[in-house]
Amino acid sequence: MLKKPNKSSDLNLMDKIVSLAKRRGYIFPDSEIYGGLANSWDFGPLGVELKNNIKRVWWESMVYHREDIVGLDSTILMNPKVWIASGHASGFSDPLIECKNCHTRFRADYLKEGKYGEVIMKDGYPHCPLCGGELTEERKFNLMFKTFFGPVEDESNIIYLRPETAQGIFINFKQVLASSRLKLPFGIAQIGKSFRNEITPGNFIFRLREFEQMELEYFVKPKEDEKWYKYWLKERFDWYLSLGLKKENLRIRQHLKNELAHYAKACSDIEFKFPFSGQDGFDELEGIANRTDYDLKNHMNYSGRDLTYFDEETGKSYIPYVIEPSAGVERTVLAVLINGYEEEKDEEGETRVILKIHPRLAPIKAAILPLVKNKKDLVLKAQEIFKTLHSRTHYFIDYDETGSIGRRYRRQDEIGTPFCLTIDFQTLEDDTLTVRERDNMKQERIKVSEIESYLKDKLI
Ligand SMILES: [Zn+2]
Repeated sequence: MLKKPNKSSDLNLMDKIVSLAKRRGYIFPDSEIYGGLANSWDFGPLGVELKNNIKRVWWESMVYHREDIVGLDSTILMNPKVWIASGHASGFSDPLIECKNCHTRFRADYLKEGKYGEVIMKDGYPHCPLCGGELTEERKFNLMFKTFFGPVEDESNIIYLRPETAQGIFINFKQVLASSRLKLPFGIAQIGKSFRNEITPGNFIFRLREFEQMELEYFVKPKEDEKWYKYWLKERFDWYLSLGLKKENLRIRQHLKNELAHYAKACSDIEFKFPFSGQDGFDELEGIANRTDYDLKNHMNYSGRDLTYFDEETGKSYIPYVIEPSAGVERTVLAVLINGYEEEKDEEGETRVILKIHPRLAPIKAAILPLVKNKKDLVLKAQEIFKTLHSRTHYFIDYDETGSIGRRYRRQDEIGTPFCLTIDFQTLEDDTLTVRERDNMKQERIKVSEIESYLKDKLI
């Protein structure tokens, strides 16, 4: 289900991306041989590489390149009390009405009371007070998926699939603190699957019922929350820029008071210009929220455990405040694909499709191509170089000898491979090969012995 696009060319772009993603092995419709499962998608051989690269780069920037953040991997199924304390059990089951355009969810009673602002009437029907979009029917709707824990299927065994990874961090706060030497401010990072039984999923992989989050909970002194909120907003915005997302495709939007989640004091979204974004043309990529001490305080109340932090400087104990940058893996995948998609005329005047993906994120880093396949010594040389490189590097290297060299370049351009390494007759004489760059088709000769260091420099 696609939202009304800004221009017909935008919808075209979306169709092209969906088609390329399927054809080249990035993203497939899920359960396809059984007619599919609504709004569910699987990541193919290239998609899983892009996804893993995004997660790895996030983890590097959060955990490896900093001294104040550690990682965690908590479970999807948790004690149901977690969701009572967090507010999800009740907050997620009120009668809700959702805007089909901006996807804001309103409590039905609050909406009628005008607490979100004046409801807009169009043709006798109420429309979204925020954007004027069409509203869904009112329904009692808990967003959490339910299942049974253990073999007995009764009320007492009902358990939920987590709707966010954040709570796994909060309930481990004290154990992480006790097992490490961290002092405020510090953070705990986690990447993992979350599940929300969305009323209106859609727009390809933008809004999914099963999705992956990259979340950081950054614990700070209570009075320093606003400073750190600003810090993370800038830090995260710069992260997307560093991955090659164009500045004109990104913006920061501060939430209005009536949009704030039940736990947040302030929240801003880093938004991307998705082709299907209605009204002003942007949709959420990542949310940065000031969750205050809401979560730890509630878990302390419900569990009866002391979740305070002892401050050695002041000799006092208190509950830290929390800043949460929360990013979606699939949304980042989609933004990277849209941001990188370009069409241009090549040397022969034919249309060249290029996926300009940052080399760090590109699924395949380099392709080894013998110039022609009917010259045995050329092919053997190319295979030898491929095998050596393959066994020594930690990234995806491709080998391709089928079709004309022009066609093979086009294929690599279209899947976003930043470098093509061509083995030609000169290679047999002087052990050099041609490197062709994806974005500008520039070619240069380098020594075979220098490939590894050449790629290493470019993939940072
Ligand atoms: Zn709306």
